[in-house]
Amino acid sequence: MLCLGIESTAHTVGVGVARQQDKTEILANVNSSYSPSIGGIHPREAAEHHVKALPELMEKSIEAAGIEFEDLDVISFAKGPGLGPCLRVGATAARTLALTLKKPIIGVNHCIAHIEIGKMTMGCKSPVMLYVSGGNTQVISYRQKRYRIMGETLDIGIGNLLDKFGRQFSIPFPCGPRIEELARTGKKMLDLPYSVKGMDVSFSGILTSLSTLSGEKLEDLCFSLQETAFAMLVEVTERAMAYLEKDELLLGGGVASNQRLREMCSIMAKERGAGAFVPKGQYCVDNGAMIALLGLLMKDQASSDLDRTKVNQNFRADEVEVTWL
Ligand code: AMP
Ligand code: MG
Repeated sequence: MLCLGIESTAHTVGVGVARQQDKTEILANVNSSYSPSIGGIHPREAAEHHVKALPELMEKSIEAAGIEFEDLDVISFAKGPGLGPCLRVGATAARTLALTLKKPIIGVNHCIAHIEIGKMTMGCKSPVMLYVSGGNTQVISYRQKRYRIMGETLDIGIGNLLDKFGRQFSIPFPCGPRIEELARTGKKMLDLPYSVKGMDVSFSGILTSLSTLSGEKLEDLCFSLQETAFAMLVEVTERAMAYLEKDELLLGGGVASNQRLREMCSIMAKERGAGAFVPKGQYCVDNGAMIALLGLLMKDQASSDLDRTKVNQNFRADEVEVTWL
């Protein structure tokens, strides 16, 4: 069984191929990212980038997998959550391919795809996932046929916080890597709002507070931002692990590239006697492989009914009944 998956929820467009035989494996994972010349992601510009990049990515993924388009059994795409114009590009490409090849199609949840690729590549069984990306920040775990959102940001995503802060200092998008670098030489811990509500977090107060601090070194601002925001994330993740009695922590999303966040998560997991799992970079960021993998897991729900292929910008992980676990 072979599935080609298309990811296009935000600034990255990707195509992956996954195969299920005796075991499940990723055969191809090719991606291309849009980066704005100035400011943050412009949805229409990002969508235009995806339109241009997709034909070549599709060819490349088939070539890398060593198969022909006709060998595919099912086509999957990220149905949401994400930016409308970007989602529609991926969905349209997937529909076109499915119609041309006369194969069934399935729209899958992007956040669940992050969890499943993390589980598969890291070999963990039933983790609490801390999903930290540009637009999304959620603590998710499986319980009784659903991936439950135990906690989440009440306003902006952690990546969005970093990018919005960085933009004020003309750091090019995506700002996370540069902020991480600057934070390494920061020493002074500035007082920022630490906003945890149960298992939810709120980041907009930190952003406002940072913009009112004057005369502080940029390195100290970056250091304090990371220490405060990451501590909040680790706290709510630990709370979910304790509540659900889970002993595996899985990280995912672009912000999971951050070494300091990884370190804080590892320390927390170690102190609880739990394992911390961080997938390889190419599987942490948005990618086509994870969409192909989830397409395989959900292949029984794939159909030729195009009415079922509408995108959903606010698609939540807990809307999906998990039939494959
Ligand atoms: P995603 O939405 O999952 O593609 O992730 C993109 C987000 O990850 C952007 O907000 C980036 O600023 C952020 N990001 C990427 N690398 C790092 C890093 N090393 N530290 C913190 N954030 C990062
Ligand atoms: Mg993502």
